[in-house]
Amino acid sequence: MGLIVQKFGGTSVGSIERIQNVANRVIQEAQRGNQVVVVVSAMGKSTDELVNLATQLTNTPSKREMDMLLTTGEQVSIALLSIALQAKGYDAVSLTGWQAGIKTEAIHGNARIVEIETDTLHSYLNNGKIVIVAGFQGITSEFNITTLGRGGSDTTAVALAAALRADKCDIYTDVTGVFTTDPRYVKSARKLQSVSYDEMLELANLGAGVLHPRAVEFAKNYAVPLEVRSSLELETGTRIEEEVSMENNLIVRGIAFEDGVTRVTIVGLKNGLHSLSTIFTTLANHGINVDIIIQSMTSQDETNISFSIHTTDLDETLTVLQSNQEKLGFHSIQSESSLAKVSIVGSGMISNPGVAAEMFEVLANNEIQVKMVSTSEIKVSTVVEERFMVKAVEALHEAFKLDELVTHSV
Ligand code: ADP
Ligand code: ASP
Ligand code: MG
Repeated sequence: MGLIVQKFGGTSVGSIERIQNVANRVIQEAQRGNQVVVVVSAMGKSTDELVNLATQLTNTPSKREMDMLLTTGEQVSIALLSIALQAKGYDAVSLTGWQAGIKTEAIHGNARIVEIETDTLHSYLNNGKIVIVAGFQGITSEFNITTLGRGGSDTTAVALAAALRADKCDIYTDVTGVFTTDPRYVKSARKLQSVSYDEMLELANLGAGVLHPRAVEFAKNYAVPLEVRSSLELETGTRIEEEVSMENNLIVRGIAFEDGVTRVTIVGLKNGLHSLSTIFTTLANHGINVDIIIQSMTSQDETNISFSIHTTDLDETLTVLQSNQEKLGFHSIQSESSLAKVSIVGSGMISNPGVAAEMFEVLANNEIQVKMVSTSEIKVSTVVEERFMVKAVEALHEAFKLDELVTHSV
């Protein structure tokens, strides 16, 4: 007998019919003789609707109360799924994050799981129950309810799979797997048979919303066999694993993108040993996430620093920098919004120089100006104007022949 963790996302539990469908998928797994733990998200867009309710009261709701509010969404779907399974004659029990023993750090809105106490889960499973756990939530040592960040139900599922030493974690969603890029935007996107943990981690961090980045981190660190597949169609999905088969051994495996990027430039910063650390420590202390950083010396004693942030952090970034202008010592600040980040990812890049050059050429040929660049061993990210984002993705998808089955073999 195996132990399987299944996770169903918001669209997959978006209506009573869909919940019936999920119940049937769970029953299929149970009928194979497996113990089953099911993690579900809130129904459809209900998390967004809850956010909207709070913002009708204030633009700055307390993060603790937001967690209290948002976690109710998952509580609805676990109860309904459990009721659906019981109505079909199966023994099921629903558990909130804290009932399932999911302990997190004391950070509201984006907490990390620090520990999972599995005793309760094991005892329900050993009593023959299908256990349904609310995704995206946990509890602090002070008994405050926390959430794991938007899309965090994936992380609940993989963390449970790691803690329970499950044989497999299946992420059921509204696409049939991980594609070469978001199939909603690029029609020729192709489903990948498999993708490595490292590539998936880059893709997820760079905007491919199909998996929560921390879920991939857990899967890699605890070697959890992970599959992304459709909750409606039966075809096999995409395996995320350590070694990836030759069939997909491409230089570029996927393209990720995200909009809502702003470039901030600090003009005329005095050169000093501590200038950079002071700026970025100040921003970090305000919880501002800085992405790409570019430094250029303009004279012997002055430097310009450009960095990218989420546009939602722009107001706070400007306030923080301006209020520290004297201490930091710079002339002025400029910013450019309506930008997007487009990234190509693939482990084949390690041994193939010239991939970045090819990417720049494709963008230039499409008259798309590159405003910032950052690279790692397995990715190249560029910042471009938001209005060119999809065009850039399509051009790169075609140029790197991602719609074809075998290309650029290494
Ligand atoms: P769920 O509610 O099931 O968690 P999400 O909306 O979070 O579903 O994730 C699935 C969505 O991820 C897809 O509908 C798709 O638009 C998007 N997506 C982005 N990049 C990719 C990709 N590379 N492959 C597949 N889907 C992707
Ligand atoms: N319901 C949460 C969200 O919409 C968590 C999730 O779906 O994974 O972000
Ligand atoms: Mg999701």
